Amino acid sequence: DQKQTINFGAGPAKLPQTVLIQAQKELLSYGSTGISVLEMSHRSSDFNKIINRTESLLRELLNIPDNYKVMFLQGGGSGQFSAVPLNLIGLKGDRCADYLVTGTWSAKAAKEAEKYGKVNIVHPKLDSYTRIPDPSSWTLNPSASYVYYCCNETVHGVEYNFTPDTNGVVLVSDMSSNFLSRPVDVSKFGLIFAGAQKNVGCAGVTVVIVREDLLGQALKECPIVLDYKVQADSNSLYNTPPCFSIYIMGLVLEWIKNNGGSAAMERLNKQKSSMIYDIISASNGFYACPVEDACRSRMNVPFRIGKKEGDEALEKLFLDGALKRGMISLKGHRSVGGIRASLYNAVTVEDTEALAAYMREFLKEHQ
Ligand code: PMP
Repeated sequence: DQKQTINFGAGPAKLPQTVLIQAQKELLSYGSTGISVLEMSHRSSDFNKIINRTESLLRELLNIPDNYKVMFLQGGGSGQFSAVPLNLIGLKGDRCADYLVTGTWSAKAAKEAEKYGKVNIVHPKLDSYTRIPDPSSWTLNPSASYVYYCCNETVHGVEYNFTPDTNGVVLVSDMSSNFLSRPVDVSKFGLIFAGAQKNVGCAGVTVVIVREDLLGQALKECPIVLDYKVQADSNSLYNTPPCFSIYIMGLVLEWIKNNGGSAAMERLNKQKSSMIYDIISASNGFYACPVEDACRSRMNVPFRIGKKEGDEALEKLFLDGALKRGMISLKGHRSVGGIRASLYNAVTVEDTEALAAYMREFLKEHQ
């Protein structure tokens, strides 16, 4: 029976209904094991099958080349802010890294990297996170160990619709909030990481996809659980992994596969986000999205209501009305205010239509 609540949360976020039902079915006994995945040894052959199946689905869905390792780690996206420099900033002698800072998450990552080496912000500092500076204005350092960017800034709704050209320098991307929302050419990257809790599962596990030749050069102070070589060599089982989160990710990947893979996700995500952006654009400024057209996120749609900088009373009214209609977690991040609708893979066209209908109705009533 269909849930009445529509979750537009930015993460943890909605999971496909079929995934939840399957997890419920298997909760007390996984297959014929007589125990729950929650109780299962990470060294058991049953769990081995689960983690290997999750990895092979990921390889299939993203066409991951054979010279890349896939890892399932703990510590979240934020753990990777440190793991990336700890493992990669020593790739070249100068311990330098280039960062693109286009929102909260890349800013946090750059700040963390400063603990381990020299960080160069490659573009003039942005006074608001509403655009991606044109690549012609970037000054990349050819002797940087890597170039880092956040592919989708979850708080500000800024998404790259192109892959930065680094002139051969290793490219690293935080794809936490748009992972598997569209196809990606993994071969262009040295490393991609993504927390699961938006598009591919629940909190607890972070996927890391890394090119093999970059392994084994971690700084000596790198904690062993964050050492990519150690984790890759032990198939993510150096220590106890987040078993249940990996299992849930496997179910979600299966669901993505059954629903047409990353290309189908891309089509749906474009369709859903256009439904909301079109209403914003046609509202004569009643709804306002501060982000430049070219980099508006398909995943997180931030907007203000009433006037450009937001009429807080009207926004509260909007959120209260949404709640009455069963639509939750539409409040913008506390640092930017306003509204944010997150439209990850599991959010359906029907869910989005419910929001669109409410936005049209609210506009009519209050403009
Ligand atoms: N990167 C991005 C793009 C995110 O959206 C988030 C979390 N919202 C993080 C990193 C941090 O992830 P975590 O909370 O798992 O550390």
